[in-house]
Amino acid sequence: MKRILVTGGAGFLGSHLCERLLQEGNEVLCLDNFYTGRRSNVVEFIKNPYFEIMRHDVCFPLYVEVDEIYNLACPASPIHYQHDPVQTTKTSVHGAINVLGLAKRIKAKIFQASTSEVYGDPMVHPQPESYWGNVNPVGIRSCYDEGKRCAETLFFDYHRQHNLKVKVARIFNTYGPRMHPDDGRVVSNFIMQALKGKPITVYGKGKQTRSFCYVDDMITGFIKLMNSPDDFTGPVNLGNPVEYTILEIAHKIVELTKSKSKIVFKPLPHDDPTQRQPKITLARKALQWKPTVKLEDGLNKTIEYFRNL
Ligand code: NAD
Ligand code: UDP
Repeated sequence: MKRILVTGGAGFLGSHLCERLLQEGNEVLCLDNFYTGRRSNVVEFIKNPYFEIMRHDVCFPLYVEVDEIYNLACPASPIHYQHDPVQTTKTSVHGAINVLGLAKRIKAKIFQASTSEVYGDPMVHPQPESYWGNVNPVGIRSCYDEGKRCAETLFFDYHRQHNLKVKVARIFNTYGPRMHPDDGRVVSNFIMQALKGKPITVYGKGKQTRSFCYVDDMITGFIKLMNSPDDFTGPVNLGNPVEYTILEIAHKIVELTKSKSKIVFKPLPHDDPTQRQPKITLARKALQWKPTVKLEDGLNKTIEYFRNL
């Protein structure tokens, strides 16, 4: 049995990760400051004696004894990370310094939830890990994008300087049950709007693209990466390469929910990336990982979750 720390464990991805790690027979310490995460995401695990929740902000040092660390703590939706941008950068950068310091002291293997946002508004399509990105350093998304880029830098410097075992995943848009209904991300927003019969708010002309991965596939990728040989550090893209325009997603959600909602067009937010699709050759080869859940199946499960809220 391994003892595993999951920071941001009460969030969308964190709660699914805690659940899978418990199912696989590990002891899980879930750390969260409940900024965007919710107790309800993890309440069903509390009866498991191998699960523990700790309220803590990763911006402050922590002293625990574990074998592995998954660092997911950071608000992920644009409206949440832009709400208090200074705090977002602090969470990424001070948070990384604190968990890396912890990993160094206790010699734990450590995973970082990085993001496709390190590629910014990409000029290379699809995006391979070798692409350095096209990120605005002073825009409204920069607190998140640059915070995550700096966290990657810290992970690789701790690896080179202190021989730390690091695993860096660049996560592309992921969706599924336990997303926050008000987090403004496209899948949760469109489903909530469709279920309430409200207008579906497509930003810009809806021609921008994203590639959506179902949460179960993503969690499998996290664990495969953590269990990969020590000399495999990443960064490695994890995401579903099937790419859709946002307008296509809007139509799909209207169809699957059988909603009467109309599509309306709203201004495109600043620095909204025009296209995004992961190149996953490395994940396929190094981790024998690829997504398996089709968009329609994943959306149906997510719609079911939101219907029952
Ligand atoms: P989420 O907002 O649901 O989860 C983030 C969790 O971190 C929340 O529980 C929140 O309360 C917690 N948190 C935030 N600041 C904290 C702090 N200072 N100290 C302790 N806990 C803190 O988002 P998510 O979608 O589950 O994302 C999880 C991670 O994966 C994030 O690091 C995010 O950047 C990364 N990621 C997610 C996606 C995606 O599509 N879901 C894509 C790329 C990267
Ligand atoms: N989007 C949209 N309507 C919404 C929410 C989002 O058209 O109600 C668009 C948004 O402008 C972006 C895409 O959907 O182009 C994905 O947005 P999200 O916030 O989910 O993630 P990110 O931009 O970080 O990929």
